[in-house]
Amino acid sequence: MANDVTQPLLEVKDLHTRFHTHRGIVQAVNGISFGIREGELVGLVGETGCGKSVTARSVLGLVRPPGRIAEGRITYDGIDLRSLSRREFRKLRGTGISFVPQNPWGALNPILRIERQFRNVIRAHTDASRQECWDMSLAMLQKVGIQGPERILKGYAHQLSGGMAQRVVMAIALVLNPRLVIADEPTTGLDVTIQRQILDMVMQLLEEERRAMLLVTHDLGVVAQYCHRVIVMYAGKIVEEGPVSEVFVEPAHPYTQALLAAIPRPGHKLVSLRGRVPSLIDYPAGCPFHDRCDFAFEPCSAEEPLLCELSTGRRSACHLSKGVSELDAR
Ligand code: SF4
Repeated sequence: MANDVTQPLLEVKDLHTRFHTHRGIVQAVNGISFGIREGELVGLVGETGCGKSVTARSVLGLVRPPGRIAEGRITYDGIDLRSLSRREFRKLRGTGISFVPQNPWGALNPILRIERQFRNVIRAHTDASRQECWDMSLAMLQKVGIQGPERILKGYAHQLSGGMAQRVVMAIALVLNPRLVIADEPTTGLDVTIQRQILDMVMQLLEEERRAMLLVTHDLGVVAQYCHRVIVMYAGKIVEEGPVSEVFVEPAHPYTQALLAAIPRPGHKLVSLRGRVPSLIDYPAGCPFHDRCDFAFEPCSAEEPLLCELSTGRRSACHLSKGVSELDAR
């Protein structure tokens, strides 16, 4: 494997993922490009239906019919992921890239002890002995803040609380030290205090061990607290990207501004986002945000703005943004 630290660990170029439905073709991901470097924690945000989860599943090779990747290149550590067979992909998942899904109950097997579920994952990639599997599982559960890990390993999924189940799923995803973790709304539905406890623990662990993460979430507060960089998606496209320290202080795109204004904060007037994400079957002409945008002006309903570089590492797709270069046509 290549190990060039100047290259992104994950590189996505001009990705198009479509779903062929009886109502027409849903352009769920519509020509996006981005990279994630070793050790980088990147938040992928946007409303429901903007293509975040489909992007994550595309990278993981988990898009199933009627969905398919129509175009684009996805490389991980120099490996062309689209050229891998399912078997090769399974081999990479766990050690290279691992996945933390939103619903821990769907990820855990109800009829296998937790210990056996760890062992299955470890043995799929290593020839560790039963005792070594036990020790690795125990150590990982401790790292994600589980007290009394022996009891958890001997038990079953139905004996776990929601927060505990999500910690277990994260521990299984991290047990083989993957270099990139892709997490899709990993703490949605959990109590806020539990959410923060889990994320504090996991993000600190990833940062200390220089693991990279793509965190799919609609919670901008989580991104502000834990991520280095943020990518904002709207209607299947990237509309803004940059360091969290810049985007959250001075968002360039009106959609990012609206998302930030909609975060409840003490002393701030809450401004809810009006309108809805457009249909991804009848893709609108012009800027896809134009009928919700307070700043829309003449060219917005006819001409689609290109994603432009505003400064190093900072991109925005808006006719109001003054870019130094046009990067992506669509
Ligand atoms: Fe608003 Fe026009 Fe910018 Fe789109 S291009 S975000 S409609 S100002």
